[in-house]
Amino acid sequence: MRPFVYERARNAEDAVAAIRRHSRRDVPSVQADGQYIAGGTNMSDYMRLDVMRPDFVLDVNEIAGDNMRRIRVGDSGLRIGSLVRMAEAEDNETIQRDYPVIHDTMKLAATRQIRNMASLGGNVLQRTRCDYFREVSFPCNKRDPGSGCAAINGFNRQHAVLGVSDSCIARYPGDFGQALVALDATVDILGPNGPRTMRFADLHKLPGDTPWDETELKPGELILGYNIPAGPHTKRSRYVKVRDRDSYQYALTAAAVALDMDGDTVRDVRIALGGVAAAPWRAHDAEEILKGRTLDEDSAAEAADAAFQSAVTHQHNAYKVPIGKQTIIRALFETRDMEASR
Ligand SMILES: Cc1cc2nc3c(=O)[nH]c(=O)nc-3n(C[C@H](O)[C@H](O)[C@H](O)COP(=O)(O)OP(=O)(O)OC[C@H]3O[C@@H](n4cnc5c(N)ncnc54)[C@H](O)[C@@H]3O)c2cc1C
Repeated sequence: MRPFVYERARNAEDAVAAIRRHSRRDVPSVQADGQYIAGGTNMSDYMRLDVMRPDFVLDVNEIAGDNMRRIRVGDSGLRIGSLVRMAEAEDNETIQRDYPVIHDTMKLAATRQIRNMASLGGNVLQRTRCDYFREVSFPCNKRDPGSGCAAINGFNRQHAVLGVSDSCIARYPGDFGQALVALDATVDILGPNGPRTMRFADLHKLPGDTPWDETELKPGELILGYNIPAGPHTKRSRYVKVRDRDSYQYALTAAAVALDMDGDTVRDVRIALGGVAAAPWRAHDAEEILKGRTLDEDSAAEAADAAFQSAVTHQHNAYKVPIGKQTIIRALFETRDMEASR
């Protein structure tokens, strides 16, 4: 591991100023010389592998105040601070009862030991698990801009089929992001120019020609927390995750579904896909097919087809399309049949 300076931040404004000071080059935030660290379960891994090379690491765990630490519930919805650990969100009774899709994305991710450490700020910013990104002897546009993509003609069984480009086919690895996209969450950010709030769906960029530029965050911008609006769909929501082993593993395919039903008819539906896309992925075309229709085998299959109509497959990952469709169908039916929300 390369040498780096480690400091602890005591408040959010000082944290932003410190990272800004240490981000001397004009590069996307993920490439900056100064980086935050929370649980460290992703950062320390990539620093050890020499994939991330910050020379200044700022620990945000001791930032004072409730804003980044608390889970709050109000009439308008849920607010989850970015320093909340995955395990805390998993154990929260309001989340279990009123936002089960969020609970699912916690309990189906990683292991309990990792969830005890992992923060929800770090979770959404975790880097891809593409093997060619993780092993520095391979060319990788995401790690070394302009070097090429070894995955496109390599072993690409894990890779994305939606939102990919000729420069990168890495999959977005996280689960929580799908719940946030499906529930129309916003994200509170503090930056050098003050606070701002943006749609979570706008946070991650698709790879295009610049896969190394992963998010809309500018160097120094700190995620403070997430706002999830209340609505009739949040209680009837689920996350179905298909993976190679059930003890713990990243998604091969996954679907977050939230439903607002009028009897057997879909009044409103939200669908987000994991494991198959380059970023948390909202399946708007599939949703449009279901609105106002009875949710049955025909409409669910039509919606699943629509979700994958723009899929681009490579040598080893074409199986993700049929399995991804079945994942959507299963998630739709399991969500429709949920007891708690009837
Ligand atoms: C074996 C293993 C299995 C896993 N399986 C899964 C899985 O199935 N599903 C899943 O979703 N995840 C999985 N993970 C990933 C895990 O969830 C993430 O590593 C974790 O959530 C990252 O949070 P952290 O606090 O440790 O982040 P850190 O490692 O501390 O930081 C990650 C990134 O976020 C940035 N950052 C952290 N906090 C902030 C903030 N507040 N504002 C701005 N930037 C910030 C850091 O600078 C860094 O770039 C797995 C991890 C491991 C090791």
